[in-house]
Amino acid sequence: MRAELVTIGSELLLGFTVDANSAVIGRQLAEIGVTVVRRTSVGDEASEIAAAVREALDRTGAVITTGGLGPTSDDLTKPSIAAIFGKGMRLDEGVLDGLRQAWIARGLGPDLPKANEWQATVPDGATILTNRHGSAPGIWLEDRRGWVAMLPGVPREMRGMLRDEILPRLEVRLRVSGESANGAPIVLSRTVRTTGIAESALADAIGPATGPLADVALAYLPSWSGVDLRVTSFDRPRAAAGQALSAAEGVLRAAAGAYAYGSDAEDLAASVLDILRSRGLTLAAAESCTGGLLGARLTAVPGSSDVFVGGVIAYSNDVKREQLGVEEATLARHGAVSEETAREMARGVRARCRTDVAAAITGVAGPGGGTPEKPAGTVCVAVDTAAGVVSERRKLIGDREEVRLRATQWALDRVRRLLAP
Ligand code: ATP
Ligand code: MG
Repeated sequence: MRAELVTIGSELLLGFTVDANSAVIGRQLAEIGVTVVRRTSVGDEASEIAAAVREALDRTGAVITTGGLGPTSDDLTKPSIAAIFGKGMRLDEGVLDGLRQAWIARGLGPDLPKANEWQATVPDGATILTNRHGSAPGIWLEDRRGWVAMLPGVPREMRGMLRDEILPRLEVRLRVSGESANGAPIVLSRTVRTTGIAESALADAIGPATGPLADVALAYLPSWSGVDLRVTSFDRPRAAAGQALSAAEGVLRAAAGAYAYGSDAEDLAASVLDILRSRGLTLAAAESCTGGLLGARLTAVPGSSDVFVGGVIAYSNDVKREQLGVEEATLARHGAVSEETAREMARGVRARCRTDVAAAITGVAGPGGGTPEKPAGTVCVAVDTAAGVVSERRKLIGDREEVRLRATQWALDRVRRLLAP
């Protein structure tokens, strides 16, 4: 099945919002065997919305829109598309009642604002798609030319409705049309995540695309987190695609060796927590230039509390001295950004938090604050364990935000490399 997307919202054209919805829908449709052949973005203007959807409907007969279902007058998706199907609008008492109940349940007051009536106004003859993730319901309209599914713009709501309402409907259609018989081709991807190795070095280690790599498309995707290796199988049925990707993944993991830390969307923080948990070890952090970013990444992982206990944001020298026990002489002789200071920060936080492992980060995030010996991007990371403390210095690349992110990734990787079984 071929489909088109129309994302609606002037903010998409002005560049204030990146069209993340299209990316999510494209990926998820590909996985069930629906190919997005074109996507269009239009502003909040009835004539633009109608023109884009009518053209998409004429071309492919299968259209998903996002955005413009809200309660305000700039939300014009429904009447614009209803007009294409020659339908008028009516107030749906059932939807309105649901909105009223939800309003009261959230403790927002006894009376639903008048503006919400617009959300309960739907095209005649439309199928209403329940939104369990927000207020605006989705709408499905269909005639002999094909169908249009309208989803909200809010990404979280859009994702929920795609999963609950759209994918199951499309899967039924694919079955009925025979397109999802066992042999039907789908697009399937897998990612091997690496860190601590440059893209070019990784490319050398992987070598030319022979063997299992010849059967899939390989993409190198570098970012602050490292280099992701994504392999994609086009045009194979699910089982064969899975086999081709597993074979390719095996080759990539062997080539990347210890630089590979996870698959798909797995965060390095989660891998590190798993390693520590499996060994019954606890972790603390002392952070200077990252200001809590490392702790934030660790605590973002559900269940982190049995491994990560906390730490100290030691931004100033006073806090480094008083809360972590860094020696005045160390700071005076080597400076706050030094392997020596990082070492004492790690030791100090490990002792004070009474953990098995501690990581410390101190650096010059930039853009200012650098010197010829320690330019912006100079970062020291130390890890203290029962076996002793290791401390290293590097010059990280990127702007302030990227240096901070790279520093947390490096610190996590240092822990992983020390403790991985
Ligand atoms: P609401 O009920 O909140 O008004 P809506 O269906 O009218 O929902 P919009 O008003 O178009 O949706 O957008 C709501 C929010 O979702 C905005 O913050 C917008 O930036 C974001 N958003 C809209 N479209 C997209 C998109 N294609 N990708 C990512 N975010 C989007
Ligand atoms: Mg809106």
